[in-house]
Amino acid sequence: MPLSHFACANCGFWQHHFAPPDCPVCSDVRNDLPPDGWRFLPEAEVAASHEGEACEVAPGLWAFTTRPALGLAGTGWLIVRDGNIAFEAAPYYSEAMLAQIEALGGIAILSSSHAHGYGALFQLQRRFDPAVVAIQRDDLRMTKAFRVTRPFDDMLELAPGYTLHHVGGHYEGQACLHDLPGKRLFCGDMFKIDQHPDGRSHAISSHKAFHKDIPLTHAELRRYRDAIAPLEFDAVLTPFEYAPDIGRATALAALDDGLARAPGVKRLPL
Ligand SMILES: [Zn+2]
Ligand SMILES: [Zn+2]
Repeated sequence: MPLSHFACANCGFWQHHFAPPDCPVCSDVRNDLPPDGWRFLPEAEVAASHEGEACEVAPGLWAFTTRPALGLAGTGWLIVRDGNIAFEAAPYYSEAMLAQIEALGGIAILSSSHAHGYGALFQLQRRFDPAVVAIQRDDLRMTKAFRVTRPFDDMLELAPGYTLHHVGGHYEGQACLHDLPGKRLFCGDMFKIDQHPDGRSHAISSHKAFHKDIPLTHAELRRYRDAIAPLEFDAVLTPFEYAPDIGRATALAALDDGLARAPGVKRLPL
């Protein structure tokens, strides 16, 4: 049986395999198992049934999403600059989406916060062959669908002003991307932002596992705080939400609130 790519029908995680026996994301405590058993979608099936869209959410910042929703339904971000940076990936990219990225200048640097943000990162590597594919060392075990060219430890400067920071917590190998020129923090799942349908944020929280409401420990929250306190930003972007109304002060206040009480998940109203 030849090697090919399969998406988990439950979470969308891609594996390069003959016939995946299970999904490492769904088997993990942070996700739920599929109620009716495993189902893995061959790439051709996903390609035939999905399309997507691209939206410039701020000047030079593009969001790529897949329709209908696949798996965790994350967003692939593209920072357009001299040497485009893609961070996180959509669950699948149609040919039109890939052509749009091509028209915007392709991808020079590819990275993601952790496995929940990987999406179809393998497609972006296959199409654009970026010189840098950067993933934190402790997340390497999840990267079999693509090839990491730049594993890193605590910090990695991708380009002047664009720096990855290992923050752990939600996932051992979780990293955030600080975009100093855009004053943005691509925070992975450090934060969950609840938003109104019109996009305004109304609550912020941090979790080890969203589905099961498992909280982070104080040491994990403190590590988040130590990592982001020195960073200048006035917007946060998770793999799922763009929150231009949440800056450093709000993010730090949410962590301080968690540190001031016993560990427990609380959606802090904004
Ligand atoms: Zn899965
Ligand atoms: Zn996650």
